[in-house]
Amino acid sequence: MKKCSGCLSENSDDTRFCRSCGKDISQIPVYGTLIQCPRCGNNNPYETQFCGSCGQPLTQEASNKLYAEKPPSDPWKVRAKNHPSYKQLTAIAIFLPGVGFILGIVNLCKSTVLDRKLGEHLLATSILWGFLWGVVFLFINMAS
Ligand SMILES: [Zn+2]
Ligand SMILES: [Zn+2]
Repeated sequence: MKKCSGCLSENSDDTRFCRSCGKDISQIPVYGTLIQCPRCGNNNPYETQFCGSCGQPLTQEASNKLYAEKPPSDPWKVRAKNHPSYKQLTAIAIFLPGVGFILGIVNLCKSTVLDRKLGEHLLATSILWGFLWGVVFLFINMAS
């Protein structure tokens, strides 16, 4: 016996199209048969959607469901990359620490202690920011 997945009416074992609604039921297993999992070989009872042993989807419907429920990979990264100001932000993120770094070195070469202290601060801050932005942008760029 085969039960139509569309109208739930019962058809004989060798039926390919449902008697009541005409739906293609050639892929529907005969009632009482076991569905063997193509991945692990576990025998699952009739009408099983997912393998009880390994979770493999056993019907087209089940794999569609699995696929539909899976969210697209890391949408925020893709959104960030497609953002209109992504390029400007990248430029600023590279430019500002770069300027800070150069200013820091220039100040380190000056003779007064105050200038050198400022230089150290600029250098440390720009390296920190450059590093942080580097990590963030690397992360975003790995999205695709
Ligand atoms: Zn039917
Ligand atoms: Zn399995």
